[in-house]
Amino acid sequence: MWSVTGQTRAVSLLQRSLESGSLAHAYLFVGPAHVGKMTLALNLAQALNCEAAGPPCGECDSCQRIASAKHADVQILDLGSGGDSAESESRVKISVEQIEQLQHSASLPPFEGRHKVFILDGVEFLSIGAANRLLKTLEEPVGKVIFILLTTNESLLPATIVSRCQRVELVPLAAGEVEDALCSRWGVEPEKARLLARLCGGCLGWAVSAAGDDGLLQQRAEWLDRLLEITKADNEQRFAYAAQLVDRFSQNRGLVQERLDLWLDWWRDLLLVKVGCSDTVTNIDRLATLTEMAGGYSLAQIRAFIDSIRVAGEQLRLNANPQLVLEVLMLSIPDEGKVKNLSV
Ligand SMILES: [Zn+2]
Repeated sequence: MWSVTGQTRAVSLLQRSLESGSLAHAYLFVGPAHVGKMTLALNLAQALNCEAAGPPCGECDSCQRIASAKHADVQILDLGSGGDSAESESRVKISVEQIEQLQHSASLPPFEGRHKVFILDGVEFLSIGAANRLLKTLEEPVGKVIFILLTTNESLLPATIVSRCQRVELVPLAAGEVEDALCSRWGVEPEKARLLARLCGGCLGWAVSAAGDDGLLQQRAEWLDRLLEITKADNEQRFAYAAQLVDRFSQNRGLVQERLDLWLDWWRDLLLVKVGCSDTVTNIDRLATLTEMAGGYSLAQIRAFIDSIRVAGEQLRLNANPQLVLEVLMLSIPDEGKVKNLSV
């Protein structure tokens, strides 16, 4: 049984390839962070090495050791996605030179299973040199070796790598799907499940982490408070905040992107409240603040700022100068209050 939640298209594609013996030598799993790429990759590795009749069974010795990252033929390599998914100590932080080691390892027969599987997480962070070396490996496939590359942003990958892989897209789950899974599989209480299902944006992995770690919700609340403060602050304070983010960005890109996503969700919620769709907001636990705040901005202002946040996120992903991007974003925060009491 495939343990990944949802992703029926991706699962049935892989299942069909397994049954017909037409597996690719390399897969590229594309999808947002925490959507289930690693779970699906481990499921595929299990299916390839499972000892039971209906792979992946999830219960045989091989399946269990793969699930706990202890199988000698399944290597997980973390290419440095920003450190937000360091849950397993068995993950290896890979340097450019280690791709060569990987090539050597791929040339040896499986130790205990039927297939060697290399799962490369955050493959968009490969340097050009490392990508070229990996490309060589992908171009000369070895019989029992399968590469599964995971990425949140395939546009940062060399086209030559993408073209050597079979692309499998993982899509965000519906909020209801996440809510059900949280209640039935992780025993989360209904009210909390409802909130987490909205907040995770279809990425179940985040919701599961947050269900078991109140610190994540606490941190989100603090970030959100800070962003709301900045919205009402003067330019000097906004620039100081931008400078802090730039500083963070140099250490951890993912963290800055998370703040932008949080801000984007907030302003999307304002838009929803503004057009009378309060029941579909993400931040359901802050509906009162959203409703009050929505009164202070026009629909055009909200739309324009949503665009600004999106553009900033895209520019950061494309390696634009972070200080410039974030300062421009700060300058585009709309002024509150000019449209008070005006109808939409
Ligand atoms: Zn099994």
